[in-house]
Amino acid sequence: EAKKLLGVEKDELKLSIDAIRVLERKSLLKDEKGNIIETPAGMVKRVAKAVASVDKRYGGDVKKTEEEFYRMMAGLEFLPNTPTLMNAGTDLGQLSSCFVLPVEDSLKSIFGALTNMSLIHQSGGGTGFSFSKLRPRGDIVMSTKGVTSGPVSFMRIFDQATEVIKQGGKRRGANMGILRVDHPDIIEFIISKGNEGFLDNFNISVGVTDEFMKAVEEDREYNLINPRTGKSTGKLKARDVFDLIVIMSWRTGDPGMVFLDEINRKHPISHVGIIESTNPCGEIPLLPYESCNLGSINLSKMVRDGEIDWEKLRKTTRLCVHFLDNVIDANRYPLKEIDRITKNNRKIGLCVMGFAEMCTILAIPYDSEEAIKTAEKLMKFIRDESVKKSVELGEKRGSFPNFKSSMWANDYKAMRNATVNTVAPTGTISIIANTSSGIEPIFALSFVRNVMGTQLLEVNPVFEKIAKERGFYSTDLLIEISKTGSIKNIPKIPEDIKRVFVTSLDIAPEWHVRMQAAFQKYVDNAVAKTVNLPANATLEDVRKIYVMAYKLKCKGITVYRYGSKTKQVLVIAGLR
Ligand code: ADP
Repeated sequence: EAKKLLGVEKDELKLSIDAIRVLERKSLLKDEKGNIIETPAGMVKRVAKAVASVDKRYGGDVKKTEEEFYRMMAGLEFLPNTPTLMNAGTDLGQLSSCFVLPVEDSLKSIFGALTNMSLIHQSGGGTGFSFSKLRPRGDIVMSTKGVTSGPVSFMRIFDQATEVIKQGGKRRGANMGILRVDHPDIIEFIISKGNEGFLDNFNISVGVTDEFMKAVEEDREYNLINPRTGKSTGKLKARDVFDLIVIMSWRTGDPGMVFLDEINRKHPISHVGIIESTNPCGEIPLLPYESCNLGSINLSKMVRDGEIDWEKLRKTTRLCVHFLDNVIDANRYPLKEIDRITKNNRKIGLCVMGFAEMCTILAIPYDSEEAIKTAEKLMKFIRDESVKKSVELGEKRGSFPNFKSSMWANDYKAMRNATVNTVAPTGTISIIANTSSGIEPIFALSFVRNVMGTQLLEVNPVFEKIAKERGFYSTDLLIEISKTGSIKNIPKIPEDIKRVFVTSLDIAPEWHVRMQAAFQKYVDNAVAKTVNLPANATLEDVRKIYVMAYKLKCKGITVYRYGSKTKQVLVIAGLR
């Protein structure tokens, strides 16, 4: 049936119906009339060819590389981020998901950033902004002697522009907005998403400093600073501000927190500049005008005979680093500034998806010490192999131009990429690969997914297989499960199955944070993870999560309490 949808008889990819639907909407090439003009295998060939062709400049074997890239993607062992799938080998040719644009304290800079944002959204990328340099509401405007309306009012313009652009696009535009906790408008910022519909196209995060977290711990006041003058405009009690962040994110999911000092401490090219913002989902901290392309290894395909297939994972990791490094050169950047700094640092973000699915295949419960240990071992392995490969590429193709004074230069003679790993949400590509997203637990064993206006009912494939093998599979059972997504309270399911197939909302919040921290330990960018909480989670739960994330050296943290947005992406049928 999946093949009929496309009118294709002999397609080589084994895709789920959901995957085909997503590809049809987002990635497959269309003619001017909107008719699809390529098959999924055709898409993979186009991508493999465009990305492999870069090898020619470095004296590589283009044909062999193309074959290898093709096989890895056609086998759903690896997929690059959506813009690469959409645009590789096309005239547009914009291949990155992640951008950060600077916003300086002038109308010229603000509206320049707006124009640049529109170009990036049009090409499928997402943008992050720090608004911390904008003078606060009520501050003077020299030319007119009037007063400014402050960063939050300008964010509304970015939001509106995104809204207008997305109507024509394949991908709705996504933004991150960050304001430092010591900006005088911080309260207005924290409560800004309290009204439904306001700043809908933004994730917002408070840029938190160590100084602030210390002030919270010691119950002290801290200074608010006007970025225009560098002078204090007043003080706030750190705990009051922290409480407000907790209350608002409990209510609406926003704001999250970004731990700016931790990000900058670990940034391998701190000599190039200070990081003030991340991309929309938080996994890539970037300098102004930097971009980064991502791709994810499907861990559920890295298992053999009930164990992790380390040799396959090694080969795949190495090939992925090669792929993502090529993407930097194959890419057509929307701006000169972006082209320059991206090629000076050559950051890539190799990630994983299907971690939770892998755990179910290995019969490891997500909320267990064994899962944490597995996560650390796995990510360390991927990190080590990624670095080795990047060093080899550096020796062959040259190090990234800013290598010399970077942290890498302490230990290595060459390095091709300033960063190598991350954990992305993999919202689209995990549907294409039909696996669990990023490092998230399984959301529900059966649930309804809203994909651009279409509702899809899904059943976890590993669970389905085991249920059939063990003889407790039935349609009635699936319907029962879909009411809550969880099998926790279904008596006829064996206990060992219940333990392994835990879902997001069954898992105590601490495990979410510990898992994020476990991956962060070996990831040089950041980790996108949402701590999914049940509807009845308390403010105290949220507070604990935020403090824990900071103490465990996460680079940022986001919570989402079930049902706190009316338009949420994942819906459990019976909980609506
Ligand atoms: P995908 O699965 O489509 O490759 P992810 O869900 O992993 O993408 O998101 C990775 C990054 O891609 C995000 O952090 C963000 O920077 C960008 N991104 C995601 N969704 C969008 C969107 N709708 N519009 C623009 N950029 C997006």
